[in-house]
Amino acid sequence: MDISLIKFLSVIYALLHYGSPDYRVDEFSVGVLFSFGRSSEPALYLQVKYDPIFVYHRELPNDLCGMSIYNAVFISPIAQELGCTRTLEHEMAHVWQGRTYGLLLPLVSLAFNESFEPPYPKSMYEIPYHRRVMNFSLINISIPLFPY
Ligand SMILES: [Zn+2]
Repeated sequence: MDISLIKFLSVIYALLHYGSPDYRVDEFSVGVLFSFGRSSEPALYLQVKYDPIFVYHRELPNDLCGMSIYNAVFISPIAQELGCTRTLEHEMAHVWQGRTYGLLLPLVSLAFNESFEPPYPKSMYEIPYHRRVMNFSLINISIPLFPY
């Protein structure tokens, strides 16, 4: 079992700084993997990943509609009045970008900025480019299937 230190610290920080979330979105990834190489015999194993998101409805500075910081998503209660739609979907797309690219996200998003964050005012209603690839999760469990 592996716990991501950065994601764990971000969850602890969100809980200590912002309190209990308004709700939590649980996401899972499950797969069967095969490992091989010269150091040992090949192995087949089940991999389960778990990555929760804490969602907070909080007023945000500078008329922001939403914001995401690792495993915490903030949605402004006045997002619709500010002209934003689908704010939760927009922020969850950023969460999936982080799950896919991890610590490389700032570099990757710089290179492909317009698809990772649609230019204003499209950012108020468009969902950014993302893939549902869970490379980086809070908890990663690998269970040997063969040999065990
Ligand atoms: Zn955005």
